[in-house]
Amino acid sequence: MKRNKSFDKGNFPLYLIATPIGNLKEFSSRAIEIVSDADIVAAEDTRNAYDLLMKFGIKKETYSLREHNEKEASQHLISLIKAGKKVVYMSDAGYPGISDPGHILVKEAIENDIPVSTVSGSSAFINALVASGLETNHFFFYGFLSAKDGEAKEEINSLKALRNTIVFYEAPHRIIRTLKLLKEVLGNRYVCLARELTKINEEYIRGTLEELSNIEEDTLKGEMVLIIDGNHDEIIFKDDEITSRVAYFVSLGLSQKDAINVVSEEFKINKNYIKKLLF
Ligand code: SAM
Repeated sequence: MKRNKSFDKGNFPLYLIATPIGNLKEFSSRAIEIVSDADIVAAEDTRNAYDLLMKFGIKKETYSLREHNEKEASQHLISLIKAGKKVVYMSDAGYPGISDPGHILVKEAIENDIPVSTVSGSSAFINALVASGLETNHFFFYGFLSAKDGEAKEEINSLKALRNTIVFYEAPHRIIRTLKLLKEVLGNRYVCLARELTKINEEYIRGTLEELSNIEEDTLKGEMVLIIDGNHDEIIFKDDEITSRVAYFVSLGLSQKDAINVVSEEFKINKNYIKKLLF
């Protein structure tokens, strides 16, 4: 077990800074204050970070940490923090680590007993989800599906039984393909497509997969999040599907007790029934 107080003795933790997903006014005064106090701004794209910070009159030394150098760059940043430097990290938009680099840096920091903290802002999926009208209490964030149709189909198939709202990120040139694949695998579910969030052309399109997949592709430009309703069908799961789902969650690091709880909630099956299958 590890307990880390973020701000003990005037500490400057490794800050993960959420950056605007479109509207610059969402860069908070706290973000500005913390970035101004930092020695090094590590960023997914140092040019974007430079441009963003210049809009707020902040000039800082930048350092590149992107998907392709994440491990080495993270280790270098940890060594700088150990040498007393104040380091913050930001990705191009929204939160680092959410379909963006940042996770390896956080893991390295934790391993090195460096406190990690976040500076809040918006994340595209939270904005989309809360305004979608779909159930928000329990949801599953998936992020991007594979660009390859066959793989994407398999991924969608693995989500078929989920009772909860599912959230995808998608690129405009693949959105019609994805809507069609979702309909083919999941049936004609209710969806909400949220595009250009926080920007002047923000739009929410709510309807069925059938309706949305027939929209003129030209009208679906910009950045987008797709929110899809969970499965509300009566599903009868086979016993081996239940036990392998428990084994899957155990393989992710959950205790058997927690894995049983998750599967019981997900498949709407009594916990004692699952325990009887396992023990
Ligand atoms: N880290 C980001 C976050 O916290 O939301 C996500 C980064 S991911 C590389 C980029 C994807 O996020 C886009 O392809 C799109 O699906 C979604 N996205 C980002 N900004 C958006 C916006 N303004 N409106 C809708 N979707 C957006």
